[in-house]
Amino acid sequence: MKLVIDNRTGYLNDYYFQTLCLLYFPGEKFKEGFESDNYAYFYLEETEKNILTARVTLGSGDKSAEGYFSGAYTPSIPMNDDFYAMNALGKAFLEAGRGLFGFGLPWGYITGLRPVKRAKYYLDRGYSAEQVIELFNRDYEVSREKSTLSVETATIQQKMLADIKPNDCGMYVSIPFCPTRCDYCSFVSYSNQKLFALIPEYLEKLMRDIRDLGEIINRLGMNLRAIYIGGGTPSILDEYQIDRLLKCINSSVAVTGDTEYTFEAGRPDTVTREKLLAVKENGVKRISINPQTTSDFVLEKIGRRHTAKQFFEAAEVAMNIGFDCINADLIAALPGDTEVTFKRSLEDVIGLGFSNITVHTLSIKNAANIRFVGDGYYDPEGDFARASVEYARNRLKQSGYAPYYLYRQKNTVGNAENTGYTLPNKENLYNVLMMEEHSTVFACGAGSITKLVSPNRDNILRHAFQKYPFEYLREEKSLGYEEARAFFDKHRKDETV
Ligand code: SF4
Repeated sequence: MKLVIDNRTGYLNDYYFQTLCLLYFPGEKFKEGFESDNYAYFYLEETEKNILTARVTLGSGDKSAEGYFSGAYTPSIPMNDDFYAMNALGKAFLEAGRGLFGFGLPWGYITGLRPVKRAKYYLDRGYSAEQVIELFNRDYEVSREKSTLSVETATIQQKMLADIKPNDCGMYVSIPFCPTRCDYCSFVSYSNQKLFALIPEYLEKLMRDIRDLGEIINRLGMNLRAIYIGGGTPSILDEYQIDRLLKCINSSVAVTGDTEYTFEAGRPDTVTREKLLAVKENGVKRISINPQTTSDFVLEKIGRRHTAKQFFEAAEVAMNIGFDCINADLIAALPGDTEVTFKRSLEDVIGLGFSNITVHTLSIKNAANIRFVGDGYYDPEGDFARASVEYARNRLKQSGYAPYYLYRQKNTVGNAENTGYTLPNKENLYNVLMMEEHSTVFACGAGSITKLVSPNRDNILRHAFQKYPFEYLREEKSLGYEEARAFFDKHRKDETV
């Protein structure tokens, strides 16, 4: 889309303006040559310290609308200077968007992935839940429903994180292979027979990296609180490979009875009793089996090549073996889904009594097979997506579930969110440590990213492995002890590692 930015302040970069545009124009590109009827004009000026004027014009074809804000805005609690610019711009942008499209945005002008972090910021400073809902609603123009959801989630996170110490950490192990590729997926995952031939070699390299990582964690004197084996589809491995992988982890890091240990079984069509027994016998307490929907029609529409029956069979096997916690993922607003099929999917997973249910909203990325533009799957107003996630929230609440982690993505239908729900005391700590960037998470495997988080959480050092398994196999360099030690020493505080 055409974007003109006249920013006379030193605040905000062009990327911020682009991200703001995506809230009303999902899927747009800003590079030369990308054809689009849409355009945006931004003017931003600071007349006096923290007194800003913002003028925004949004247009689509021959229609356009304007938004304007000028003056001083007093945030509820002290904020940095960027906040004033975001606020002025956000208010003008929302006014223009409402004028052009006729609907507002549930998350106001928040562009970031982690709205809960902001709610927690207020709670940590002593505001009550009711006050934070008001402030969130006032400062960011977030709807009351989403403000409440953010505060409920942040309140649970506060309790979960209360005993997390600066030298506590998590560990992620990546298995980027899937039996087939789902049409909506943008994840780099190998999903054909030829590439599956790489799995044995991949596992060998992965286990070398796990041992190295274990040595780093031990030498740093860090305390491993949570392990997550994700993908892709880790259960694509056979039971012998799973057994070797888990034994390698167990002998490389200190796994105690208190360590949260999760294995993502993911695709129901890969789950067998033998695999889940190997998982359980090696100390894993939590698994995830993800139907996304229990409608066979929708599964076929999204190119997810398993059936609802396979999901129920996998669930039965898992429940018979007995895990502390089983999670199921659902996605709202999938192509072909309806109010009836979404509600039925939700009832199906609630009926199984799983401890965790995660409700995502369809988000479409460049690398996915289905597209925003052309395939007709994107409803910009996203009434169905918004109604589905609201329905899920209320229905899950009735059944005793509470939201405990939440994140947003770009290009999500209806600007809705992804929320993890839990029965009491069954939260997944890894999800919160990772999503909120609260603690260091060491990672290994293709596409994984280690994040070293400083004790005061102001600094993060990322180390990414190569995205594709074949590149990862050739990769020599991984995070070294010296580099990690230097990072923590640099950001050392009294209570550090
Ligand atoms: S199983 Fe998951 S990671 Fe694999 S292709 Fe499907 S959505 Fe993507």
